[in-house]
Amino acid sequence: MDDLKYGKRNKRGDWAPNEPVETAPLFVFPPKLMAVLKWLPHYFFPWNAIFALSAVAYWAWVIPSVETMQTLSIGWAAWLYIVNAVCVLLFYGAFEVHLYVLKRQENRFKYNGKFPSDQKNKAFWFESQNLDNILRTFLSGVTIWTAIEVAMLWAYANGYAPWLSFSENPWTLALVALVVPIIHEFHFFCIHRLIHTPLLYKWVHSVHHNSVNPSPWSSLSMHPVEHLLYLGTAFYHLILPSNPILMLYQLHYAGFGAIPGHVGFDKVEVGEDKLVDSHAYAHYLHHKYFEVNYGDALIPLDKWFGTWHDGSPEGEAQMQERYRRRKEKLAARKARTEVQGAAE
Ligand SMILES: [Zn+2]
Ligand SMILES: [Zn+2]
Repeated sequence: MDDLKYGKRNKRGDWAPNEPVETAPLFVFPPKLMAVLKWLPHYFFPWNAIFALSAVAYWAWVIPSVETMQTLSIGWAAWLYIVNAVCVLLFYGAFEVHLYVLKRQENRFKYNGKFPSDQKNKAFWFESQNLDNILRTFLSGVTIWTAIEVAMLWAYANGYAPWLSFSENPWTLALVALVVPIIHEFHFFCIHRLIHTPLLYKWVHSVHHNSVNPSPWSSLSMHPVEHLLYLGTAFYHLILPSNPILMLYQLHYAGFGAIPGHVGFDKVEVGEDKLVDSHAYAHYLHHKYFEVNYGDALIPLDKWFGTWHDGSPEGEAQMQERYRRRKEKLAARKARTEVQGAAE
């Protein structure tokens, strides 16, 4: 597969797509119906379908009976932890083995020409990005994921969360299923913006940003506080007329859904000639430049708040201009306080 048909590679070996990243054609005025229809299949396939189906499979084969879940117990919580951990190991591991261990597509479509395993880095536990990321994923990531899952299922089993049935409320639940990714996007943007404030960044979010060159295991490599905030999207279903399967979809959208944004490749080659888009470029640029693309472009929040970078030279110029204005503002403030200090 010739990746230079789709993008270009610089001297360092970093690949970038030719086309700028586009935000989803939702929330635009006037509405773009044709664009929405063209975009819609990408909304479902393959990623959202995988996360929704995995929720259905969990409900069918993994989640204990309602009677069991009425009482909190270590038994079913441990069972859910094991299943979540195995699923993360298999799902994340598949990308890791395919793209980073066996390097099946070498560096074709890879944003950063280097592989993280090539470099030692003191920012990480044991100076290894992979080891650090894997430990954080299973120690706090899957643990907090499971704790939220257990709390929500217990709430459903005891009537503390509004539980609609698919047979009686198919349309309401279909609508909720459709907006699950939108809830995620809204929530992720808000908490992400919050943890980029100086204090929380230093204390919490810098852990995730240690992976400047993200790989599959970077997806859930976060500080426990970020895990709680990030996976906490499931709590929206405490007030939303919903169903435990959709709550699981919401949770899987966050937990398993973190991976496409961190695979580090723009497209994953499947077989001889099939390519699957990761839609990761916007978030890759976030890891590279820190202060752009707080969201994933499903809602054009970054455009509205002026932090959008679509990877084009214009996007780059806008970012530089923003940095320049901020520097000027800081310098002016510093000069003002100095003048005040001298006058006193
Ligand atoms: Zn990230
Ligand atoms: Zn960030």
